Amino acid sequence: MQAMQLIRQRSPLVPVSLPDPVPGPRDVRVRVAACGVCRTDLHVVDGELPNPKLPLIPGHEIVGRIDAVGEGVDSLRVGMRVGIPWLGYTCGLCPYCRRGQENLCDNPQFTGYKRDGGYATHAVADARFVFALPKSGDDVHTAPLLCAGLIGWRSLVIAGAGENIGLYGFGAAAHIIAQVARWQGRNVYAFTSPGDQKGQAFARSLGACWAGGSDEAPPVLLDCAIIYAPVGALVPAALRAIRKGGRVVSAGIHMSDIPSFPYSTLWEERGIMSVANLTREDGSSFFALAPKVGIRTQTITYPLAEANAALSDLRHGRFEGAAVLVP
Ligand SMILES: [Zn+2]
Ligand SMILES: [Zn+2]
Repeated sequence: MQAMQLIRQRSPLVPVSLPDPVPGPRDVRVRVAACGVCRTDLHVVDGELPNPKLPLIPGHEIVGRIDAVGEGVDSLRVGMRVGIPWLGYTCGLCPYCRRGQENLCDNPQFTGYKRDGGYATHAVADARFVFALPKSGDDVHTAPLLCAGLIGWRSLVIAGAGENIGLYGFGAAAHIIAQVARWQGRNVYAFTSPGDQKGQAFARSLGACWAGGSDEAPPVLLDCAIIYAPVGALVPAALRAIRKGGRVVSAGIHMSDIPSFPYSTLWEERGIMSVANLTREDGSSFFALAPKVGIRTQTITYPLAEANAALSDLRHGRFEGAAVLVP
């Protein structure tokens, strides 16, 4: 198989030819049709997330078809169209797993971080953590749902049911979740980097009733806000934009330091919460919902060999929507 591999953090991925992986017991091997490029991949490559498996094949928004199954797999068959997400394995034994919070498992493995991922022609996954997808569908447009969609969905649920919702950082996750929130009948207020007119127009085209810079105040006090950009200064900014009792949810795995702010910004039962990983239940509920919403993802495709260019364009905000690698 062909893959793009991270040999050392803070250095570019390198193309490699490897023997086709053999699925172990309970594993499936997937022929990759498309793999989304997530900001978390950038954090892994840039060294902001510590201790990845090395060498590592990044990528955790994988859509493909099963081409081999290991011993003991009975739920999935060769030829099935599936998605492989970030949550690659949980122990099932720790207090969090037993409490139904497998996203917080003490001994997890994450795809494209602690296990090899989808920047490749083939990927192996634990069958229990693979989502069956409808037989037909556009693989490229589905790939971003596997993380931007799933983590976005989890953060939307945790943000609560308020009518006016703010989305800070209008990238892959926000452009999906804006559509879900609109479908739910809520008003979306989109915040981009100050002066990013293109990003603001993109947000309006997806139904945002207001779009502006993150340094601007929205025209109404928001019920809740979700932060998708890895910028700590957005936490106090979002707290100032929400009403009493509102909640700010930070959805990224890494963020720059949060600057100090007066207690009065948090006072009156405003809350801050982070969202970590996903559960398989998040996946089932989101993939059941997605066709009803009719989510349309905006994607830009890169050949697998151009993974470094895709990461660089993401780092510099050179596209709207989501980047997807196609082997
Ligand atoms: Zn566990
Ligand atoms: Zn991700």
